[in-house]
Amino acid sequence: MKITDIALIRACLPLDPPFDAAWDPVPRTSFTATIVKVSTDEGIVGYGSGDTMDGLEPFTELFLGQDPFAIARHVRALETVSFHAGRYWPLEAAIWDVIGKALGVPVAHLFGGALDGLPVYASTGRLLPRSARVESILELKERGFKAAKIRISASDIDAGVAIVHSVREAVGDDMELMVDLNQSWRMAGDVRSSLDPVEVRRLATALAEARVFWLEEPLPLDDVTGLRAVRDATGMRVAGGEMVRTFSELVDLVMADVLDVYQPDVVLSVGMLRTRTLAELALARNRSFTPHTWTNGIGLLANLHVTAGVGGGPFLEFPIDPPVWTEERRDFMLSEPVTVGQDGILRVPQGPGLGFEIDTDRLTALA
Ligand SMILES: [Mg+2]
Repeated sequence: MKITDIALIRACLPLDPPFDAAWDPVPRTSFTATIVKVSTDEGIVGYGSGDTMDGLEPFTELFLGQDPFAIARHVRALETVSFHAGRYWPLEAAIWDVIGKALGVPVAHLFGGALDGLPVYASTGRLLPRSARVESILELKERGFKAAKIRISASDIDAGVAIVHSVREAVGDDMELMVDLNQSWRMAGDVRSSLDPVEVRRLATALAEARVFWLEEPLPLDDVTGLRAVRDATGMRVAGGEMVRTFSELVDLVMADVLDVYQPDVVLSVGMLRTRTLAELALARNRSFTPHTWTNGIGLLANLHVTAGVGGGPFLEFPIDPPVWTEERRDFMLSEPVTVGQDGILRVPQGPGLGFEIDTDRLTALA
């Protein structure tokens, strides 16, 4: 089999009401998805999505005429491209989709087949006032979610602590809660400085009293001693690594035992194959692997296949914050949105490849 064409499909969903993401200084009035489509001479077509893919075009010739199964070669080629340009990992996902379809198996089987699915955590995205956030987490619990992640503002951590304690009081002890401070990377142009380690330790101690399962990105990733001190001084699990750019940086984090929970996103950070290796290293050291998935339904499923394949967890991120961030908005490019039942488990689709259908009519209408 040979790759005969690589095309980008861009579509933009207007967001009214807008989505005011905690990590973005500007509320989003539209949601753009770029889907990479890989065609082959055997008629098998694969899709990936996640990164913007801006600037990919001059590099597609590196993959045309190649056998999709030569995946280690494609990963190395994407790493050389990443040095000069963007994070084009959705192309790797699309090639895995081709491979899974050619073999007639879900990609998770090729990644180890350890799990059929994972319990998810409802990963909320906005900074909400206390009563509104309590109400939203109660509604998510009612829908079957066994865990939820709350964003709090680094500029008012006392208010954030009060919100988390109120949520804990409302949901009781049979739901896990995570907290994300979003301090490890910034949107382009956001030059605000991070909290310091002393302030973060005070926060982590207060969150531990609300039995928070992990504290995510409490400090910049370069603050290795600060991150370790958060764990050592407070007993709080520390999560991070979602956007780390190279495999070797991630390996260094594992070897230096900086985090408890490693979260590289397979369509944004280092790709599916490299992430699987990193996950094995983390698991071998008795640390957790569960990736960031905040892109769209295709990115979520690519991360699910790797995580289920390698046996990560204990929870998988499921981006949702109704009414402004819903499965329908997040997965607008798919014929069916990715959903979770009342048991709170996201199951690996049993169709071949990554296991989704693209809604081509919708993409054309929103192009
Ligand atoms: Mg995060």
